[in-house]
Amino acid sequence: MSSMDAILQAALDQRRAEHLYRSRVNIASGCGPTLQVDGRAVLNFCSNDYLGLACHVDIRRALQQAADQYGTGSGASHLISGHSVVHQALEEQLAEFTGRPRALLFSTGYMANLGAINALLGRRDLILQDQLNHASLLDGGRLSQADFQRYKHNDLEHLQQRLEHSSASRKLIVTDGVFSMDGDVAPLQQLSQRAAAYDAWLMVDDAHGLGVLGATGGGLVEQLNLSIEQVPVLMGTLGKSFGTFGAFIAGSEALIETLIQFSRSYIYTTALPPAIAAATLASLKLVREENWRREKLTHLIGHFRRGAAQIGMLLAPSDTPIQPLLINNDRAVMEAGQQLRDAGFMVGAIRPPTVPAGTGRLRITLSAEHSEQQIDQLIDALDQLNLPGRGQ
Ligand SMILES: *Cc1c(COP(=O)(O)O)cnc(C)c1O
Repeated sequence: MSSMDAILQAALDQRRAEHLYRSRVNIASGCGPTLQVDGRAVLNFCSNDYLGLACHVDIRRALQQAADQYGTGSGASHLISGHSVVHQALEEQLAEFTGRPRALLFSTGYMANLGAINALLGRRDLILQDQLNHASLLDGGRLSQADFQRYKHNDLEHLQQRLEHSSASRKLIVTDGVFSMDGDVAPLQQLSQRAAAYDAWLMVDDAHGLGVLGATGGGLVEQLNLSIEQVPVLMGTLGKSFGTFGAFIAGSEALIETLIQFSRSYIYTTALPPAIAAATLASLKLVREENWRREKLTHLIGHFRRGAAQIGMLLAPSDTPIQPLLINNDRAVMEAGQQLRDAGFMVGAIRPPTVPAGTGRLRITLSAEHSEQQIDQLIDALDQLNLPGRGQ
């Protein structure tokens, strides 16, 4: 073994010994309520395809037709020759959808967060983030030269103290809308008040609220009816409820032009395939119009929570399709995940460093394509698990 590999292997061995080793599962089907894994069907309770659009026929057709017209690759970055009329149309529709003057497509949500934070802040600035924010936001904060501070989860007092002590010229408060591993929501109204009081800017990553919350799927910002003055920087992803791929930032003309000029993860990367943008246009139409998907999801969430309560399961308080079952023992989380897999169910087994140590959980996610019966099957399987802390 080379000396590099010996050093790497030691760290890998340690990770395995800590029960934190990650591995992948090969999925032989598209993303739906059932997945083909190792030659058998398993029920899918771990995807972020909340509205069940990832395999929708209209979206597939749009992708196929656009591939025939525009090919596969965009061939270049947006600022060279990669920006097609389809990207432009999607940006205009996303702006209208979010009620913002403009929107800008990024290749992934990770890149959107890195790029937006770093275009907005530099030395002498302050970034304040909820401690449970998504890794891409935290990484964006670390990469920036700004003073990077975290506040306790949804803790307005703590945030306010940090704002009071700052003399930074630009101050950015950043939060998930719906928290990705917890399913709870940020108090955006109050956060926007604090931002206004301290002359700070508010950025909301609504990766998990978009499509699911709000009368037309406009996310937490639509549900709470928050204006661009209250939430000047709005980020959304397209690989979750939209069932396609990519992400966007929506906001003012000046914000979007700033990102085009200064956001390195926007400038120095290949534009999304135009066919993906065309597929997302088809998806956006379904997100806005098919309200029954949100209604059904709300119904299924209630059904799941009632079933879980009946068997004495400890669920985190969440009204969203993200339903974490907290298992404080991080090792037991991995074992429970494996037992469920053996029983024919895939759920997210989430442990550190994705979540703080000792807060491992099964991250169960629901989709509008699930049936009540499938949820009942999951409840039965959860009931068979021998979990520490059960029914406390
Ligand atoms: C998934 C996710 C992202 C990253 O989006 P991708 O398009 O998958 O890169 C960013 N923020 C949050 C809160 C997410 O859940």
